[in-house]
Amino acid sequence: MSETKETREKELGEKAVIKVSEMDPRFKYEIRKIPGAEKIMLCFQCGTCTADCPIARFSDSYRPRKLMRMTQLGLKDRILSSDVIWLCAACFTCVDHCPQDVGIASIIRALRNLAVDEGFIPRVYKELGSCVLKTGYAYRIPELRHRKREEQGLPPLPKANVESIAKLSDVTGFSKLFEEKKVA
Ligand code: SF4
Ligand code: SF4
Repeated sequence: MSETKETREKELGEKAVIKVSEMDPRFKYEIRKIPGAEKIMLCFQCGTCTADCPIARFSDSYRPRKLMRMTQLGLKDRILSSDVIWLCAACFTCVDHCPQDVGIASIIRALRNLAVDEGFIPRVYKELGSCVLKTGYAYRIPELRHRKREEQGLPPLPKANVESIAKLSDVTGFSKLFEEKKVA
């Protein structure tokens, strides 16, 4: 199927034009220092990763090849503030097929970690994290669910040790993330 001007524009989003002022030439070196992301500059834009990516098949915006190019170009703010980097399912199909052995999945993981460092956490992850801190579970289990379990003769769900989770989160800095960070 041929790509129309409209679909290209949709894929690139509102900010299709790249300004030189947006490009941070140090970004690729910053990324290259992160374990697993050392080969970012080997990407020669063949597009195999995008062609084989199961997420790209169902998304108009997720294109691993494009993410690699944007990273090489140093479009740091645009990448880190985008929800798109959080769409990767870490299936490693791209890693298996890349002719340059770029290690895309690890680079995307590095981009996500940097995004969090810069204060961008998608709302859904922020809510999941907050729920783990408060209840020990990734989502709130409604009272009705507990009653249904009882009616079905199922044992009650194990109680999470919220104090231990809080201590662990403080030590690792996990809880601090949720106090300070912006929501993407
Ligand atoms: S398959 Fe590898 S070389 Fe080709 S565009 Fe993707 S990352 Fe770059
Ligand atoms: S690891 Fe991520 S980018 Fe690579 S094929 Fe899977 S979903 Fe796509």
